[in-house]
Amino acid sequence: MAIYLDHAATTPLHPRVQEILSAEFSRTGNASSLHTFGREQRKRVEEARESIAALAGASPTEIVFTGSGTEANNLAIKGFYWSQVKADPGRNLIVIAAFEHHAIIEPVEWLVEHEGAELAYIPITADGVIDLAALRGIVENNRDRIALIAVMHANNELGTVQPIRDVVEIAAGIPVHTDAVQSFGKIPFNYSELGVHSATISAHKIGGPLGVAALILEHGIDLTPLLHGGGQERDLRSGTINAPAIVAFATAAQVSCAEQSENFQRIRELRDSLKTQISSAVPDARFNAADTPGLPGILNVTFPGTETDSLLLLLDNAGIAASTGSACSAGVQQASHVLIALGLSEDEARSSIRFSLGRTTTQAEIDEVGSKIAGVVASARAAYSVMGR
Ligand code: PLP
Repeated sequence: MAIYLDHAATTPLHPRVQEILSAEFSRTGNASSLHTFGREQRKRVEEARESIAALAGASPTEIVFTGSGTEANNLAIKGFYWSQVKADPGRNLIVIAAFEHHAIIEPVEWLVEHEGAELAYIPITADGVIDLAALRGIVENNRDRIALIAVMHANNELGTVQPIRDVVEIAAGIPVHTDAVQSFGKIPFNYSELGVHSATISAHKIGGPLGVAALILEHGIDLTPLLHGGGQERDLRSGTINAPAIVAFATAAQVSCAEQSENFQRIRELRDSLKTQISSAVPDARFNAADTPGLPGILNVTFPGTETDSLLLLLDNAGIAASTGSACSAGVQQASHVLIALGLSEDEARSSIRFSLGRTTTQAEIDEVGSKIAGVVASARAAYSVMGR
């Protein structure tokens, strides 16, 4: 059996979620219909909304279900920008952490290219945390020009947790969005305690199904929607409500929050064991921001003298699934912007990979990776030197 160490990309369905999904998909009824079938579906969706809201520290009316975390981030970024610029055309600056996920960076870049937005990046310290002094400087110098600040709660390549409450304090009233796709369900996350104006959470990172996520959006904020149609989700996300997936999302959230501290402890021990085994098998391996508090299961490693693509292929041949964590839609791995933001050179970034452990990872799997890693790295180094680099 292959070893799956790519839980930050997507997670296996939790068995409880699997049961719920097959039961829910055998029901019918559009949750917006008035008849009995529709009302039953609506009731299930509203119960799921209440449950997710309670687990995320929000109120049910603050949950807007979407089809993905990417969509929720786009809704927040574009929605806030459009409403801010409508109120004051001079407020066109968007401030984001330099190592945001592409689902934040790309909508911002789209607004820069097509709508005259301006973009400022918050630099990252060597610990993999945003530079708060730099953020303070950006805010002091541009207070009246900032439409939105977006800082992710936990970084998907490094696992490091960001000081969101400090960001909110510095922002002092400027809207703050946090992408909590990697953190919700895995580490404590509480929307109202963080004090942000919006947050994104996604089901498939916590044992739930693909194709369902949510934007948590503060009461009274009126965003311009991305989709126009039937006016579902308070007119913020038109489209027939995906009731079975939403109910399954709630189950995934319940299970992952209930098992959170137990999973955290176990997964962190496995990750530390992997780190120790890699260190002794490949003494010059370097670990990126591994000592900073954060997600339990992420280990980002630089193997000097290798190249990411060949490392990942050789690992795959050895029955081990890892990744870099950055999108690779063109089929060619780019140097990770996260690692560059952390201060690595292009070469170092191109010789780094991410192992991400999760609920189903076992010690036997970690030991197998530990026993194979030296051979894989040696082959990757041989391939790298043959390529004349
Ligand atoms: N934000 C972060 C930090 C992520 O890790 C991901 C997924 O990789 C996303 C957003 C996108 O979420 P989704 O896959 O639900 O679109």
